[in-house]
Amino acid sequence: MTGIAASYYDGRTPLRQPAELLAIGDEIVARGPFGERRARRAEVEISEAMGRSPRIVRFADGALLEVADLEEFARWLKVAGFAESPVVRLQKRWSWALGSLLGTVLLIAAIYFWGLPALTKVLAPRIPAAVVQSLSQQTLTFLDQKVLTPSNLSAARRAELTAYADRILQAGAEHPGYRLHFRSSAMGPNAFALPSGDVVIFDQLVELAGNDDEVAGVVAHELGHVAYRHGMRQLIQSSVVSFVVGVYLGDVSSIAASLGALALESRYSRDFEREADAYAARTMLAAGRGTEPLAAMLERMEKAHNAKGRAGSAWDGLASHPDTAERIARLRAMR
Ligand SMILES: [Zn+2]
Repeated sequence: MTGIAASYYDGRTPLRQPAELLAIGDEIVARGPFGERRARRAEVEISEAMGRSPRIVRFADGALLEVADLEEFARWLKVAGFAESPVVRLQKRWSWALGSLLGTVLLIAAIYFWGLPALTKVLAPRIPAAVVQSLSQQTLTFLDQKVLTPSNLSAARRAELTAYADRILQAGAEHPGYRLHFRSSAMGPNAFALPSGDVVIFDQLVELAGNDDEVAGVVAHELGHVAYRHGMRQLIQSSVVSFVVGVYLGDVSSIAASLGALALESRYSRDFEREADAYAARTMLAAGRGTEPLAAMLERMEKAHNAKGRAGSAWDGLASHPDTAERIARLRAMR
């Protein structure tokens, strides 16, 4: 066969020398002013076709040949018996490339919206209790340092509320272990539960409540989040996303830093709120208190938030969803 014109670089100097590239038997041969170079086919690396850029034939020692005439080189490769890789052939077909891109996007979306929540549901119960405990403890300590202040309720009032909530929750179905904490916060009436079962009630919520049943209803709702492990599921989900983003951006150190913030800022999904409401409704109905207390409390919280002119507070966002009215209606229908 005839050779093809190429430029030769010895891999040590920038000197460019004219060359002729040939395929002889099992060998690739380059001839030029530098003499002759031979290598077995399997020992040279031929770059894949990438648009209009020259193709490169590289020897194991770093010397290389650059071929500018792409059409001629494609013919030469064919005659010499080099088959293009299936990947290259597919890449040349636009429709296939576009289709595979779309497929990738759809796959990622499916994993994010369905696969990830399903995965977190499986993973959350497998996290050792000690890890859940220590993570929750650290979070509460962190919040106590940053945003929460000690409760202004009297010890007697706190004991009374704790005993009342206990009585209602014992009457209800099986519940995860829990501890009630009282704190004050500038964030307004709210409550949240940590995955360990530590439920934090803000003084502002107790003050807003019409009676203790309403407070107990909120505690039952928070325990729903604990029972279904919503907190851990949310944490795993948000950390998977930040992990992938961190790896993609090559910044793994930011993952750890953003983990805590993500866990706290993310609000529960509509589905999680619905599950927690249903859990609270079952508990309150079993205790003979009905679903009205929680419905009334949600209504009060929504009014309080609206009066303050803000969408809601940061934590559980008990009344911060646009579908609060729908939740209230559903609770009242369960009476
Ligand atoms: Zn909730």
